[in-house]
Amino acid sequence: MKNDNSFQVVVIGAGLAGLSSAYELTKAGKKVLLVEQWDNVGGLARTIDVNGFRFDTGPHRWYTKNDMVNNWMLRLMNKEIIKVPRLTRIYFDNKFFHYPIQIKSTILGMGILKTSLAVFDYLLVQLKSLVKKREAVTIEEGYIDQFGRTLYEMFFRRYTEKLWGRSCRQISSDWLGQRSRGFNIGTVIKNTLFNKEKVVSFIDEFSYPRQGIGRIAERLAKGVIKGGGKILLNSPVVKVSHRQGKIASVTVNNGKSRKEINSRQFISTMAISDLIKALHPPPPATILNVNRKCQYRDEVQVVLFINKTHITKDTWIYVHSLDLPFIRFMEMDNWSKSLSPKGCTSIVFEIACNYGDNIWQKKDAELVELVTGKFISEFKLITRENIIGSYVHRVPKEYPVYHLRYRQDLKILKKYLHRFVNLQIAGRNGIFRYNNMDHSIEMGLYAAWNIIEGSRKFDIESVNIEREYLEEKKVKVSFPELPEDQYVEEKKN
Ligand SMILES: Cc1cc2nc3c(=O)[nH]c(=O)nc-3n(C[C@H](O)[C@H](O)[C@H](O)COP(=O)(O)OP(=O)(O)OC[C@H]3O[C@@H](n4cnc5c(N)ncnc54)[C@H](O)[C@@H]3O)c2cc1C
Repeated sequence: MKNDNSFQVVVIGAGLAGLSSAYELTKAGKKVLLVEQWDNVGGLARTIDVNGFRFDTGPHRWYTKNDMVNNWMLRLMNKEIIKVPRLTRIYFDNKFFHYPIQIKSTILGMGILKTSLAVFDYLLVQLKSLVKKREAVTIEEGYIDQFGRTLYEMFFRRYTEKLWGRSCRQISSDWLGQRSRGFNIGTVIKNTLFNKEKVVSFIDEFSYPRQGIGRIAERLAKGVIKGGGKILLNSPVVKVSHRQGKIASVTVNNGKSRKEINSRQFISTMAISDLIKALHPPPPATILNVNRKCQYRDEVQVVLFINKTHITKDTWIYVHSLDLPFIRFMEMDNWSKSLSPKGCTSIVFEIACNYGDNIWQKKDAELVELVTGKFISEFKLITRENIIGSYVHRVPKEYPVYHLRYRQDLKILKKYLHRFVNLQIAGRNGIFRYNNMDHSIEMGLYAAWNIIEGSRKFDIESVNIEREYLEEKKVKVSFPELPEDQYVEEKKN
């Protein structure tokens, strides 16, 4: 076992949070080592290239209400950012509905009877809330409070349960809060009647790197190396040793050898539950018991390469039907025409599952056949002759599951970790919060700046808990500070 003593900061995890930290730290002249378990950087926000087909690991649109983070990203990406027109729909009972909900298409799709019932239900909920305001505990209560029971049953219950693989009564309403805070029938009506005042839920375009979302991570990694930092791939952290209230070292195991790495400071973006498990000496049994309750939802992604372009007009489509195995699919052509070889496109299908379950363990060929058969027969957009290749990959820990008492449980775990004065935790699974990319980047920046400043000035825990939902930000100026010519517009064919 080799011991390496030469680093000032070890960052665990080369997702956007860890990369942003390492990037800022190397820029400030710190000696940084970034350790990553996989063979490439980007974590959940990667772009994979197979024979000239570039596709993302799930639909990733860039939007942030934080101008500092937006400008930071734009400076990093320079001229690579394009604006992509957005069309998102829900496929439900053989019909397409616009998402976010649009009144006209919803009434047409639902029919007048169901629409009347939905309006009645919604008004009932509003009246009830005037008499007695309740604090929604479960996601079911949260949806009903925002939309009424009819719309909840129609648009939200089935999809949410398909995504999480558990009942809406077993998931905390906080998830809904972070996903669609403040978005309710009121905002839908306001948007329909006064759509000059744009609400971002309804924005019809977003920012995106022309060559795929993974370009952000690729550019950050390049910056880290250029700044003198080191990135160690294929190196899962298996042990985090501590003594006298400080982290002393991390041990990585690449399957062939183990290596212990010492450092003065540590930033961890690996899943909080894995960090707790890796601690040595181990935490007390009470902590380990609480830790077991933190679970994640995983995903298998199947990609079909097609010898046609724009077979759909959507950026992504949510699929509610339980007969179809996938929860969502996206066509890369509708994000950027630079992502596929000429005359071709690719479609990424997401199947939510749990690590090691039936779906996770299926052979790649079985998964491709499952998706192909169902997609062709249901949508009739392509034939088998149009499919010129496929790819399957499995993504563990895509979503932290907000179980009902998760807030109290996390408080216990974080209190325990706070005893280590040279450890900061950040990132989506790192602090167990349903982050978007901008939140993870902001957390990564804060962790780095705290080390550079020599004090814990920046509060990582404050990121992504604001009460005002990001999608409700009024769009005034898209990109302040940078001149217009830095943006390249790209239109759909
Ligand atoms: C399907 C999907 C769609 C999304 N869509 C959007 C969107 O439209 N817009 C948006 O802004 N955000 C979106 N997000 C969220 C976004 O992907 C994440 O917020 C962001 O990528 C998280 O970055 P991170 O660095 O915090 O975590 P991660 O990306 O999870 O990075 C953590 C890294 O740590 C590594 N690691 C873990 N354990 C170890 C270990 N023991 N040793 C070494 N390394 C380890 C992992 O391999 C990983 O690379 C989406 C996420 C998903 C899953």
